[in-house]
Amino acid sequence: MQSLYLKVIGPVIPQWLQLVVQLALRRLIHQRSSFFLVLHLVLEVAVYGEYSWEVFPSSLELGFRRSILLLPYILVLGKMYFFYQCCTKDPGMISPSNHKQLLKVYMYDGILYQQSHVCPTCKLAKPARSKHCRVCNRCIHRFDHHCVWVNNCIGALNIRYFLLYLVTLSGMAAAVGTVTVRFLIQVALVSNLHQAMYVNTDGEHVPVGILYIVQKLFLTFPRILFMLGFTLLTFFLLAGYTAFHFYLVMTNQTSNEWYKLKNSCQCHIDNSRPDKRIWGNIYHRGIITNVKEIISPETEQKKIR
Ligand SMILES: [Zn+2]
Ligand SMILES: [Zn+2]
Repeated sequence: MQSLYLKVIGPVIPQWLQLVVQLALRRLIHQRSSFFLVLHLVLEVAVYGEYSWEVFPSSLELGFRRSILLLPYILVLGKMYFFYQCCTKDPGMISPSNHKQLLKVYMYDGILYQQSHVCPTCKLAKPARSKHCRVCNRCIHRFDHHCVWVNNCIGALNIRYFLLYLVTLSGMAAAVGTVTVRFLIQVALVSNLHQAMYVNTDGEHVPVGILYIVQKLFLTFPRILFMLGFTLLTFFLLAGYTAFHFYLVMTNQTSNEWYKLKNSCQCHIDNSRPDKRIWGNIYHRGIITNVKEIISPETEQKKIR
């Protein structure tokens, strides 16, 4: 991310400012920080504030069903619960007390995970599929990634909450976006915007196009249009990211493994990184078993026994 920043923005920004931005980025991304967590909540309050202030009461007046209008609030309650679990639940920290047990959970594939590897910080042999999170400074069982938006690692014990968090968050964006689009269409129909005409250079009466309608709506409801634009953009980004995570679940891969394999395509034989062509995913045991593993992580099953 930093190299991209240096290439794209670097040449047009003074050096002192680059240094300040780099330090800020390092602090925000490479150290635990509540910045993105708070930013996420502020954006949510802004979207829901606008929805509650203008879209909800106006849609009610236009005769929209109350159950449809309340759906975003139901989703936000579910999302808050999953968000709280993601932020506070232990993602699967490896400690001397559970280390021996976690070593037995997954086999070493000999490519991505080697039996002989010891974490230099935690001084413990790394269980297969674990990784040391440099942000949190701890080894995590079935490490997926460190999420700045929840300020926590995503690992074996909280990935199910993370997936439900993504689903409810995407649902919220979809629900708010759908109601708002319906509201704007209804306003355009009620005010006969779609039948409006303008006189062209030849003196003929011509129906206005969609761009005129959007422009008119934007001038009448600027805050709603801004909120809708942001919500739709968020929805498409989230929906793609959520779909990617469901693909990982079905194939029993972690983001960390996917990323390592993706980068391994260009590596040479003598490179220490794994070769994708010879990697067979030994953790993939069929879609149903893979999903079960997310719902009921291996560590918990062993604890019960
Ligand atoms: Zn470690
Ligand atoms: Zn972490």
